[in-house]
Amino acid sequence: MSLPAYWEVAVAAALPQTLTYKAPQGMAHLLEPGLRVLVPLGRRLVTGYLLGQAAPPQGFAARDIADIPDSKPLFPKELIAFFRWIGDYYFYPLGQVIKEALPSGINNPEEIQCTLTDKGLNLLKEGKVRTIAQGAVLKALAEIGPSLQKDLCKRLGPAASKNTLTTLEKSGLITRNPLALPGRVRPHIETFVVPQKNLSSAPARMKGRHKILALLNGQGPMTDSDLKKLIPSAKKWLPVMKDEGEVIFEERQVCRNPFGEVFFEDTPPEKLFHEQQKALDAVAAALDKGVFETFLLHGVTGSGKTEVYLQAVDRVLGKGGNALILVPEIALITQMEQRVRARFGNKVAVLHSGLTPGERLDQWMRILMGEAPVTVGARSCIFAPYSNLSLIVVDEEHDESYKQDGHLRYQARDLAVLRARMHNAVALLGSATPSLTSRHNVTRGKFTGLEITNRIEERPFPEITVVDLKQVTASKTSLVSPALRQALDQTLARGEQALVFLNRRGFANLPLCADCGQPLLCEQCDIALTYHQEAKLCLCHYCGFSKNLPTPCQACGSPALRMVGTGTQKVEQYLLRCFPKARIARLDRDAASTRNSLLDILKGLKDGSLDIVVGTQMITKGHDFPNVTLVGILCADLSLGFPDFRAAERTFQILCQVSGRAGRGQNPGSVILQTYNPDNFCITLAQKNDYKAFYKAEMTHRRELAYPPYARLAQIRISSQDPGSAAALARDAGNLCRSLCLKGPAIQKSVIVLGPIASPIARMAGRFRWQILLKGLNTAAFRSYLAALAQALPALSGSKKAQAVIDVDPVSML
Ligand code: ADP
Ligand code: ZN
Ligand code: ZN
Repeated sequence: MSLPAYWEVAVAAALPQTLTYKAPQGMAHLLEPGLRVLVPLGRRLVTGYLLGQAAPPQGFAARDIADIPDSKPLFPKELIAFFRWIGDYYFYPLGQVIKEALPSGINNPEEIQCTLTDKGLNLLKEGKVRTIAQGAVLKALAEIGPSLQKDLCKRLGPAASKNTLTTLEKSGLITRNPLALPGRVRPHIETFVVPQKNLSSAPARMKGRHKILALLNGQGPMTDSDLKKLIPSAKKWLPVMKDEGEVIFEERQVCRNPFGEVFFEDTPPEKLFHEQQKALDAVAAALDKGVFETFLLHGVTGSGKTEVYLQAVDRVLGKGGNALILVPEIALITQMEQRVRARFGNKVAVLHSGLTPGERLDQWMRILMGEAPVTVGARSCIFAPYSNLSLIVVDEEHDESYKQDGHLRYQARDLAVLRARMHNAVALLGSATPSLTSRHNVTRGKFTGLEITNRIEERPFPEITVVDLKQVTASKTSLVSPALRQALDQTLARGEQALVFLNRRGFANLPLCADCGQPLLCEQCDIALTYHQEAKLCLCHYCGFSKNLPTPCQACGSPALRMVGTGTQKVEQYLLRCFPKARIARLDRDAASTRNSLLDILKGLKDGSLDIVVGTQMITKGHDFPNVTLVGILCADLSLGFPDFRAAERTFQILCQVSGRAGRGQNPGSVILQTYNPDNFCITLAQKNDYKAFYKAEMTHRRELAYPPYARLAQIRISSQDPGSAAALARDAGNLCRSLCLKGPAIQKSVIVLGPIASPIARMAGRFRWQILLKGLNTAAFRSYLAALAQALPALSGSKKAQAVIDVDPVSML
């Protein structure tokens, strides 16, 4: 069989298609799919990934692959189809999909090296250089030798302008060549001292040498630096020992260890409960058959879902298979990682954003080398480089952080199902409050539903007391009602722990009626309006509808509006004043910015050194702390009033999740839920923990308004540093969307264009933002519409200083 002469390469650049390159002379045998390469693109050298053999190009000569930085592929060829699907579905260049999937920082930065030619040197010597700027460049190159263009620019400033360099190059005075520097993130290499067979025991007077030998004999090879730390005289002895052939030095790659201590003990239960066993049996049957199937495991918090995951993973490992466990956030990964490691030890790899880039690369390599059959991680762990997979677990499948917001906007839960299908594997999605979409997939037979209805040991679900904030005088800045304060008091007196939850992601400017609690709604969408201080307007972030203030309440006619808003920090300070003896900590994205501070708080809850934890979403999920008996929810309305059609779903989920934190141990739990809307169906159904009724009510709503799962969504996000350019591109993009709707009766009937409107966060990081919402009532027609749009869109933004991207299945409407 002859080796392929031409290769299909996905270049890590914004190119709509893959390119064909030629195997360089004598290197064909080194090439294989998944290998990273350097290829020439225009005048640059860029990173690319080998996908497979390509047909000989017709009508042009393919260029040679320039270099191969690694000795082995970075991903198995089985992943290529997965990457292609992702690129097609999310309208993202394939090479960039792969780049984002791989550990970051490994690619070679592209640079240009400038070198003085003999002609340039002569000219300089003769003093015949034309301009001062040209003279400065030639002189610098003569002094420091060949240099990177960027260094030259740094050194000389405007003198080394592009124009000057181009002129010099054209006149043959300098050359400019692309150059690839080593990547920022590389495998970590250490020097090891390896004992040899002919180890003799050293004479007793050589005390240091004696110790070294004893140590190496006992432990085997050690790093040079460790050895010198333990035995300072090693510095003196090692060269001698090397000369005498007792040791050799070897460069070896070491894995940077991201794991901390395991402080969660793990004792697998002797016996699963009936419903757990039934769920596990169903999953095991599919695993044994080796066929693709997706399960939705619906079980209230604390019902033992995690135990089902772990036993399913155990089964996979027993048969030599691989498994992935996805957990939504870093706070949860920490806990899941603890449990999984406690059970499966060094078979576990982790992949999440809490790792340094080097640690991430090492974990990736461990998976690739087959050293870690289980990987726990956040959404990006869906790209883990397994060539075969038997099981993908997605815990808290409803969680919105599975959707990546920015760059490649993928939804990891959806990709888990897709990847499972490609591997003939099982996808096991679990939640206490499944997303409406997943639940809908059970009703229409796409997923298999599994249920655990009871909590472990029949522990009762906590009693939820609803406090109507309209009736009480809560402290204005802290929102702590007397009832909650009293409950906190009693909990502390009993020596138990409490969580206080505030959804700070909610807007601080949600207009509510001060008399009846009704949020101000859009007259066309039924979605809460947001108050814009500058304009003194209430705006709908879906359709652009606006309302001037003052305006009477739509429900009771009262003219009194109240803007709701406070933050976790204020609450923490307030509690510290109320309970000066209590040990209080805060857990939110600001407080838990490092993994260690997060671990400290989790540990504090576990070992009882904390009494109250105030927090955002981060405290709502997963954690299993038996001594937490009280949960306070400060203002359920903040998420309810979020300008998003998923506000109700999100609120219901959050309320159930937070409530589920209470009473997971022997002592029963209670929840105090404060709200301005005690009669809202989210609140009343969360109080009863009635998922099914909620599902039914909310689905009716979605059907009426044509929102997912009854329609497909995509969003075009437009942004620019210049407000005029953003607005102009938004207008053009809107026109394009509408004109493409006329492309055929199927599209015309089933695609709805809403907007463009200014985004709810109209300016972010200095960029002005607009958005267009696209709804598709027919999937096939919508996909072909989006494909046409994705093709035409770049031409619109090309000439302007603004950018437009497509977000398929958007989650954030901000
Ligand atoms: P979930 O993931 O649904 O929140 P977990 O799997 O964390 O629930 O289970 C809750 C608690 O019950 C954990 O402490 C777990 O160790 C324990 N547990 C789970 N299954 C069993 C069982 N079959 N027997 C005894 N204890 C169990
Ligand atoms: Zn009112
Ligand atoms: Zn509206």
